[in-house]
Amino acid sequence: MRRTTLPATPEPDMRSPAARAATDVAMLSAAVFVAAIIGIHSRPPGLLASVWVANAVALSVFVRWPRTFTAPAAVAALLTLVTADLVSGTDVYATIAFNVANIVGILGGTLVIRRRHPEPMTFAGSADFARMCIGIVVAALLSTTVATLSSSRLGPHAPAVEALSWFGSELTSYLLIVPVLLSFRASTPRRRSRPASLRGLITGETAPIALTVLLMLAGLIVQGPLLLALPLPALLWCATRIPIFGTALLTALWSAWTLLFLGRGELQTGGLLGADGQDGASAVLSVALVALGPLLVAAVSLDRMAVQNKLREALEYDSLTGVLSRAAFLRRSQQRLDTLITDSRPVALLMLDLDHFKSINDTLGHAVGDIALVRSAACIRGALPDDAIAGRMGGEEFAILLPHADQEDAASIADSIRRDHERLHVLSSRTATVSIGLAWSSYAPQSVSPLLVSADHALYDAKRRGRNTVVAVSLD
Ligand code: GH3
Ligand code: MG
Ligand code: MG
Repeated sequence: MRRTTLPATPEPDMRSPAARAATDVAMLSAAVFVAAIIGIHSRPPGLLASVWVANAVALSVFVRWPRTFTAPAAVAALLTLVTADLVSGTDVYATIAFNVANIVGILGGTLVIRRRHPEPMTFAGSADFARMCIGIVVAALLSTTVATLSSSRLGPHAPAVEALSWFGSELTSYLLIVPVLLSFRASTPRRRSRPASLRGLITGETAPIALTVLLMLAGLIVQGPLLLALPLPALLWCATRIPIFGTALLTALWSAWTLLFLGRGELQTGGLLGADGQDGASAVLSVALVALGPLLVAAVSLDRMAVQNKLREALEYDSLTGVLSRAAFLRRSQQRLDTLITDSRPVALLMLDLDHFKSINDTLGHAVGDIALVRSAACIRGALPDDAIAGRMGGEEFAILLPHADQEDAASIADSIRRDHERLHVLSSRTATVSIGLAWSSYAPQSVSPLLVSADHALYDAKRRGRNTVVAVSLD
């Protein structure tokens, strides 16, 4: 039976709007401050930070929790960035120039991502990924432009190289952080869990994660361009197997890990900003571009899973009444019986058929007939214990498997469904009664078929006896 789990009702927020906005600004500022301090202290002296997390943190907060995207929050983010630089001893002019560039990038990227999508955004598919990438590129381009225009010298190298380096660093940082923050605890389509087995291990989550970590560690002995490409196959494997947050996190870890080696000159580029800096800048950009691969595959996998889940749902459930389809009912009932065979407990099966349903269609129309079916299914669902399995066998016929129900339990459930149907108003002037055949056995049979056949016979008996009645038959 389909179970609709209602989301837990969130605690009402008793704070005033002003207090809530102040809390939002304070939390955003705290997160940006910590991220900025990490960025400042991780950058080589006199050079730009290769991973500048603060901008990505602010942008992620703005798009994931749009109520935080306000003018005071933008001003607070700018002031926080400035404060973090000033307390870390960066000179005043560079502090102002760089952080104006940062905030322009953050706001521009946020506006692009939120354009025509004002609702909270998470990373749940390729459409989100495309929107995220466009916003990130715009953010990186805007901040590079402002930084280049406002500062004649971003660093010791030629202006074009410094601009490329700034852009690469921005792009990589955003691509590292935004997918992680937007996929964290996001509700995304899930793959069906498989039973534990060697095959399950290989096709499951453990092997791709282990291989990624192993190949990342191999970076300790590998040098040169191979360092950049080595974990890519494992990351792509992860992207098809593990939740998107895991792929985003592993990709971010791999990017940071690679940037670390890059900074030590182990990609044989002459260092992060080597002899002329150009190799280093293009290597940082390469990290961003390689990271796109697993993220894109993870996004497409999510799309595929969403479609698969929808298809499975369409196959498993009857679209009109929400109970299981015939095939799914038969399969699940058989599976349940298989588990019951060993514990020799009773089992019962009800076969239900609405009475004179054709005349409802003929006199009131098919649409009203459909309403009757929906109400009947709701009535059936309301009367069933948690472990019951209910399905629509076709037309106006339903079947219910009641594991562990003896004759008395099953008869009481059947009669309560019958009585509920007496009160089931299709229209104010018309009710729809139901006839029920009940087959029960004091032990679970090997197959669901004898239960179905006996319940069907009992149902015909109920019809013959004048309808709106329950007839029980034992298989013992
Ligand atoms: P009885 O009491 O003997 O069961 O009579 P009945 O009229 O209920 O049974 P019968 O088999 O003569 O008619 C069943 C009707 O159910 C015929 C069919 O058109 C209608 N039906 C089947 N599926 C649907 C559906 O999805 N929607 C609607 N509105 N009608 C349906
Ligand atoms: Mg009928
Ligand atoms: Mg029928």
